[in-house]
Amino acid sequence: MLYNSTENKKEVVSASQAIAQGISKDGGLFVPQEIPKYDLNTIKGLLKLDYKGIAQKVFADYLSDFTEDEIKDCVEKAYTIEKFGSDNPAPIAFKSYNGNEAGILELWHGPTCAFKDMALQILPHLLTKSLKKTNDGKDAVILVATSGDTGKAALEGFKDVEHTKIIVFYPVDGVSPMQKHQMNTQEGSNVKVCAIEGNFDDAQTGVKKIFTTPEIAKQLEKNNMMFSSANSINWGRLLPQIVYYIAAYCEMVNSGKIQLGEKMNVVVPTGNFGNILASYYAYCMGLPIYKFICASNSNNVLTDFINTGVYNKNRQFYTTISPSMDILVSSNLERLLYKLSGDSDISTKEWMTKLKTEGSYTVTPEVKDAVSTAFYGGYCDDEATKATIAKMYRDAGYLCDTHTAVAVNVYDQYITETGDKTPTVIASTASPYKFSKAVLSAVNDGKELPESEFDMVDMLNNITGVDIPAPLASLKDKKARFSDVVKVDNMPYYVLKSLGIK
Ligand SMILES: *Cc1c(COP(=O)(O)O)cnc(C)c1O
Repeated sequence: MLYNSTENKKEVVSASQAIAQGISKDGGLFVPQEIPKYDLNTIKGLLKLDYKGIAQKVFADYLSDFTEDEIKDCVEKAYTIEKFGSDNPAPIAFKSYNGNEAGILELWHGPTCAFKDMALQILPHLLTKSLKKTNDGKDAVILVATSGDTGKAALEGFKDVEHTKIIVFYPVDGVSPMQKHQMNTQEGSNVKVCAIEGNFDDAQTGVKKIFTTPEIAKQLEKNNMMFSSANSINWGRLLPQIVYYIAAYCEMVNSGKIQLGEKMNVVVPTGNFGNILASYYAYCMGLPIYKFICASNSNNVLTDFINTGVYNKNRQFYTTISPSMDILVSSNLERLLYKLSGDSDISTKEWMTKLKTEGSYTVTPEVKDAVSTAFYGGYCDDEATKATIAKMYRDAGYLCDTHTAVAVNVYDQYITETGDKTPTVIASTASPYKFSKAVLSAVNDGKELPESEFDMVDMLNNITGVDIPAPLASLKDKKARFSDVVKVDNMPYYVLKSLGIK
């Protein structure tokens, strides 16, 4: 199977090239030229497999230049009991809320307690194998822009991986104290962490710019290095996310919640549009999905887009209690637009250019209709997020994090509006302990909060009795290693200096 750029169909690469390179030279994103199709018989065959088995099948169908052994090796190394606490890395908790039952797909049992681990525990293995196939001898420099969770998950995934170096940029005031502490205490000899004066979009634009500056690429080349990306623009990030939607469907069937062939809805708390796009690819493969419910926080650019066909990032940026969704440029939407415009690289390029130059674009009525038929867009603000955490905890005895709460709230709105009774899976994207302050203030009945992050963690644990994930508990006594803060304009210099080139 080959991949091409969403902005230039003539740029065609193999799977390993797509993963090694991360982003295409013209700035477009790599997409598979054909999507493998699973009929109900194929899905029936998957019902008997465990998570790793499903992962191997899906990976094999997309990564045609990997051998079966290579894929098996990657999967075995990534989804271990040691890292995910059980042999099912993505279990479903069935809970009732407001009279509706939903399956909460817990994607945060990995080493950094956010769903990013599902992809970033396997990406380094996919990437090092891809580099061997395509770029003999070169070291990969992984540049990451993070709104909090990707950074830590990428650092954990890549730490001390041979022939890789990783540099993570995060918005100085845009991540939670726990996220900051997780990143700044990161171990490993090949890692660097740096804050930037700006928001996530500034960080992401800065990284994209470094990627596409030819002079910088040349300097790396001279030093036997090349850039790659661990952001969700990398196909190697998206592919592992397709797996858990297929596995979730199988679990819904196996647990009797739906019959094989019956449809389910998915609800996804969305920022960069990677997670929800993975569910859309699963649907394109043949997975029976009825609605994609795209949940946003006050940065509701996607809600408006789904409802109007106008994407407009020229609006106020809000810093919310669900910081991993504080995003106005949802990069992976580009892949959806490419697909829905009938694989039109010309239209996609035109919209993305407008986004860069004017900050907004309008899709054709056909594309708008296709979007709003498949997707439901909704959002909620911080107050509603906290109220949802409190209500969910009170009514269902289930403690969820702020991002998951946005999804639960928007699902509730969807039910009220449509009365749809389709069985539903809600993606739960982080442990509540990653966002202790906000979660605690939702469930502590107005009592005063302690000052330090870890005292809040303990108080949340005392009130709810929910276990603190071991990777977060162990951070308490760790000292920070990193404290750099740079201006966006200085990011290129910082990168070259960190690599010992300047
Ligand atoms: C990254 C993240 C999201 C948003 O996911 P996208 O794939 O960027 O849409 C939501 N919740 C949490 C906790 C995250 O870390």
